[in-house]
Amino acid sequence: MARKRKIPLRICVGCRTKRPKQDLIRLVRTPQGELRLDPGGKISGRGAYICRQKTCFEKALKGKRLEKNLEHPLSEEVIAEITALLESEDDHTS
Ligand SMILES: [Zn+2]
Repeated sequence: MARKRKIPLRICVGCRTKRPKQDLIRLVRTPQGELRLDPGGKISGRGAYICRQKTCFEKALKGKRLEKNLEHPLSEEVIAEITALLESEDDHTS
């Protein structure tokens, strides 16, 4: 039995590809003005999405696309956190 479910699509700020939300990492600028990783997709605020790939994150960083999207500067901590997350994702896939 084929069941049709609507998969929410979001655009990666790195490669600008539409992907299912669960394939992407969500970053959120909270109403308190903090930038957070949002693995569960539950934090409210302005969000931006990137693929679970370092190349996309690097592209997004280079073009300052995350900053523009979130209207917030990226701190070293957040960048380190995302990089660490993506590195652990790489381990899973290779
Ligand atoms: Zn991407």
